[in-house]
Formats: sequence, C-alpha cells, structure tokens
Amino acid sequence: SGARVRQARNKRLPQYLERDVDVKFEDVAGLGKIRLELEEIVKFFTHAEMYRRRGVKIPGGILLCGPPGVGKTLLAKAVAGEAGVNFFSISASQFVEIYVGVGAARVRALYQEAKDNAPAVVFIDEVDAVGRERGLIKGSGGQERDATLNQLLVCLDGFEGRGDVITIASTNRPDILDPALVRPGRFDRKIYIPKPSLTGRIEILKVHARKKPMSEDVDYMAVASMTDGMVGAELANIVEVAAINMLRDGRTEITTDDLLQAAQMEERGMLDRKERSPEMWKRIALNEAAQAVAAVNFPDLRNIEFVTIAPRAGRELGYVRMKMDHVKFKEGMLSRQSLLDHITVQLAPRAADEVWYGEDQLSTIWAETADNARSAARTFVLGGLSEKHHGLSNFWTAERINDIDLEALRILNICYERAKKILNRNRKLMDAVVDELVEKKSLTKKEFFHLVEIHGLLEPVPPSI
Ligand code: ADP
Repeated sequence: SGARVRQARNKRLPQYLERDVDVKFEDVAGLGKIRLELEEIVKFFTHAEMYRRRGVKIPGGILLCGPPGVGKTLLAKAVAGEAGVNFFSISASQFVEIYVGVGAARVRALYQEAKDNAPAVVFIDEVDAVGRERGLIKGSGGQERDATLNQLLVCLDGFEGRGDVITIASTNRPDILDPALVRPGRFDRKIYIPKPSLTGRIEILKVHARKKPMSEDVDYMAVASMTDGMVGAELANIVEVAAINMLRDGRTEITTDDLLQAAQMEERGMLDRKERSPEMWKRIALNEAAQAVAAVNFPDLRNIEFVTIAPRAGRELGYVRMKMDHVKFKEGMLSRQSLLDHITVQLAPRAADEVWYGEDQLSTIWAETADNARSAARTFVLGGLSEKHHGLSNFWTAERINDIDLEALRILNICYERAKKILNRNRKLMDAVVDELVEKKSLTKKEFFHLVEIHGLLEPVPPSI
C-alpha cells in the first residue's frame, strides 16, 4: 500500500512507533456506553471517505479524561488495533525540555513519522504537561513550553478533518488545559473515563483472568466488592499477584482466596502511601472494628463480607466497610428486634470512642453511623414499634412530635448502653481486630471470623427493651 511504500522510502526508523500493538476493544472492560463513542472514532478511519462525502467533520483530536490507570492508553491502542492503523505514542513530559526548541522539534518529528506511516493514531499521554494554560508558568521553562504547545497546535491543525492521522490525548486535568487546545478542530471531543463501578470491576477482573488458570468457582463479586475505588491497572495487578501466589504454593489454579489476598496487598500498598499517623489509623480501625464486632452478635447483621479502613468511593475518612445483610433492612423485612440490633451496631463506633479514649477525648469519626442510628430510632418509634406507642391511631398530631423525639432518644440511650456492654465484654476481640486492621488495612470475611473464633464471642447482651 501507499503507506508502506512511503515508509520504505523513509530511511530512518520511526522513533515513536509502537510495534505489534494488538489491543482490541474486548481487552478493555467496564466501559459501558463509552465504548460506542470509541467505536465511532474507529469508523473515522475505516469510513473516512463516507464521512467526507457526507460532510461530517472528522475530529483532529480526542481527549480522554480520567484518573491514572483507568485504561486511557489501553483504549487509544484499542482504537488503533480495531482500525488496523499504526500507533504512535509519546508522553508529553518528554516534550518538556530545558533547551528551547527541543520540545517543538520532537512534536514535529512525531507528526512527520505519523504522516509517513499514515493512517495512524498519535497518542499523547498526560497532555497537560505541555498543554497547561499559557502564562501559568513563568520564566524560560515557560517559554520553551509555549513553543512546544504552539508546534502541537500547528500539527493538529495540519491534520484537521483529514482522517488519516487522529490524535488521542489523555489527561487527568482537562480543566487546566490551554483554551487554544480545546478549540473546535483540535481537541474538541472530550470523553470522560471514570473509575470502574462494581460491575465494571467484575468485568475487568474477568478480562485479565481470561489468560490465567482460574479455578472454576472464583467469586469475582467478592473480589470486586472489596476493591471499591480501584482502577483497571490495580485490578490487573491483583490478578498478576494472585497468579504469583498460586505458583509459589505449587498449585495449578488461582482461587478466590488468592485474589482476595492480592487485593489486600494492593490496598495496603496504596494506603501506606497515604499520609496518616499511626494513631489516626488506629482510631479509624477502632471505629470499623466496633461495628463489625457488634454486628457479629446479631443473627440478621452478622453477614460480614469484609472489614476495611480504606477510604472508599469519594469519602476521605476511612471507615469500616462491612457488607451486612442490609437486604432485609432495605426491604423492610427486619424484625422489631433486628431493628434495635441495627441501631446498636450503628452506635458502636461512638461507644468505642468513649470506652477506648474516654469522654474528654472523643473524635467525630462516628458521626455518620450515629446519624444512621438516629434515623433508624425515629423509624422505630414512628412505625409504632416502640412499646409506648403501639398502634398508629391518632399518632400524627403536632403535640406528639416532641413525644416521638423523646421516645427515640430513650431507645437510642438503651441501645447505646447495650453497645458499650458488648464492646466491653469483647475487648480482646476488639483489640485483635484493630491491630490486624491497622496492619493489613482490610480483613476478608475469613480473617475476621478467624479472629472471632480465636477470641471467642461472649453471649450477646440480652435486649432490654
Ligand atoms: P491510563 O492510561 O488511564 O493511566 P492504562 O491504559 O495505562 O491507564 O492502564 C494500565 C493497565 O491497566 C492496562 O494496560 C490494563 O492492563 C489495565 N487496565 C486499565 N483499565 C482497564 C480496563 N478498563 N479494562 C481492562 N484492563 C484495564
């Protein structure tokens, strides 16, 4: 083909070409509808003529936005792989040089190579390194970057609408890009790639499990639910580490346990980089341990999937993430007694703070669970479950509002005392859970119940309502 002839004539080997890129859309998982947008980009290559005839504007550049490790690079490769075109890549940090003119020369060389080997995808990783709004950086380094950015703009404009070289850039900071870069005809298409959802994580794990000897009964849901907040790169790593675990033990199949252990290591690695004093970790662990230890006392609540002190899904403070049998609660099938138990569990973090640190050193770590308890107590009273207000007749009157709050308060106090008793009676177990949480950052179901077994669980405190 013409491209190949031109390549042969061009004696110098292309420097930025990545050979043997064999990525397909099926290798990128958990994207949902985003995939459709990328399939369209493939069509710009495969159906360029048709688009041109119909007067559809072919974009020069596409911006993939999202945190590191969600698969932006992988996607760009998949576009090239699906379209069957060459893939050129560079990290924008390589553009940023101290010597004036070097960055711009590299941009020119990159696009010259792409042109000589068209059709091609040009991938620019971390484009914000060079595309940061001009004038934000002072001094000669800034000047050099401006020259590089200008060159990039020139190159983008040169390929606008042609459809033989399409630039895909990635960034985690689309907000700081120079407006000139995102003007129509340049990176005028933004695609946001978020962190994967629960089902997304299951899919990603399965993609990476495809080429591995997985045991047939692997519980991907269990692994996905304890990896809340993790991205594709971390999930891929978990599968790799699980495979190493398996080999080290001389086994031939990767089990759920291998994956859970690997997930735990990944999380610990991630969290050890988080700046938090040992005292803070301990405090958060106490908060989580209290809920888990309290919950394990009650039949409807003891279905704990895992306990973790990792900050999750947009929340800054770590908290115990238990997967309790909330189903019954949500479906309204919790018995009167179980609702009281639930309130007790939600008050346990506050109780632990008092028992371990004392009244004058309370934190506010328990604020969220205390809110849950308060709202559940009101449900309890308003629903007529409290013995003082059996039956709802004549209940919704203004003068009773105060009564409702008073009765809810009474329930909260009783449950609070009960939570304190439970924690006091299970101090050894509590301390063990806290220590192991601080060390491992999260405990699998098995590990948690192992501690419960070792330290024994004392008879539950009888209800006093
Ligand atoms: P980014 O460019 O967003 O920083 P990468 O594309 O470099 O992320 O991802 C690194 C690796 O993580 C990929 O090569 C792949 O193995 C894995 N990965 C990331 N996201 C996904 C995904 N959505 N599906 C499958 N694997 C993924």
